[in-house]
Amino acid sequence: MKEDYYELLGVSRQATKDELKKAYRKMAVKFHPDKNPGNKEAEEKFKKVSEAYEVLKDEQKRAAYDRYGHAAFSNGGAGGGGGAGGPFHDPFDIFSEVFGGGAGGGAGGSIFEEFFGGGGGGRGGSGRAGPQRGSDLRYDLEIELEEAAKGTEKEISFRKPMQCKRCSGKGAEPGSGVVTCPTCGGQGQVTASKGFFSIRQTCSSCNGSGQMIEKSCTSCGGEGRTNETTKIKVKIPAGVDTASKLRSGNNGEAGAHGGPAGDLYIVIHVADHDIFERQEENLFCRIPIKFTLASLGGTIEVPTLSGRASLKIPAGTQSGTTFRLKGKGMPSLRGGYFGDQMVRVVIEVPTALTGDQRQKLEEFALACGDADEPVGKTFFDKAKKFFD
Ligand SMILES: [Zn+2]
Ligand SMILES: [Zn+2]
Repeated sequence: MKEDYYELLGVSRQATKDELKKAYRKMAVKFHPDKNPGNKEAEEKFKKVSEAYEVLKDEQKRAAYDRYGHAAFSNGGAGGGGGAGGPFHDPFDIFSEVFGGGAGGGAGGSIFEEFFGGGGGGRGGSGRAGPQRGSDLRYDLEIELEEAAKGTEKEISFRKPMQCKRCSGKGAEPGSGVVTCPTCGGQGQVTASKGFFSIRQTCSSCNGSGQMIEKSCTSCGGEGRTNETTKIKVKIPAGVDTASKLRSGNNGEAGAHGGPAGDLYIVIHVADHDIFERQEENLFCRIPIKFTLASLGGTIEVPTLSGRASLKIPAGTQSGTTFRLKGKGMPSLRGGYFGDQMVRVVIEVPTALTGDQRQKLEEFALACGDADEPVGKTFFDKAKKFFD
């Protein structure tokens, strides 16, 4: 059970900001590890009151705590190491606010690490030389519509910081030893004075380990990573569309100084297709047909992503009519169904007639009485009143 933050600080739930600050200051002075060397209980207490104050001094966090108690921050804590940090992880501003004076030194890292040194790596620090998670990467990949329909596997290649082969990411020149850190003399901590305290801080030269690499790796300069070209195979599921994002875990940049790798995000672009236009899972195409076919009716073959399909054109089909081929569209990315293919027929008017063709068409027109009624009858009836 976690203790109540107000009780820890010995204040009421209605305490003002000033009262909180005074209460914390009193507690911090009393339990500060410098005043209680080797006293684990005091150290614990100091951590607890610091945490309590960190939450309660912030209006938003205090409101969240008042409503939900510790559950409001249950996902907080160490966070993923590096990155933006957890919901409350800026202990230096407690420090500067309560004790006055700038935090100095390098920001980042937990106040507890700074004060107490170490922490055994559990907190995932972000000190200068410590392990850092590699950045996420984005790779834009263009594929064909057919590939999007069936799914595919692609090999992609790109340059990125990768774990240094020479030193296996450790940063030390192979064969070179480890020496005692000259800055802290192997203590892993240095003493600095801040305000009215003198504080032991983690040594920034050795990041608290007390040891240093004798000779940095000649390949990566000690960073533990070098730029290399890498090739990876990417499985692309059927149904992806432009802007679909695929995550490939740990294939981002290698972390510096042996930190974990970031992730790779592959962003799909589906190339324009000669025949099909896509809207979600449906495909649209436009097919020109002869006016005789539209008049007399018949069957045509239409292309689909899965081969040819027959389409019956009924006699008297008008230009612009759309036919639906069920299930001939794209698969849904989540699986389970296919979209449809829409075929819009457009009637082609014959051009460059031969003498014979022309004569036959004229006979046809005569038989239909087209010379007297060249405009469609329904339109003509509507428009008649404008001509009177
Ligand atoms: Zn190296
Ligand atoms: Zn050191």
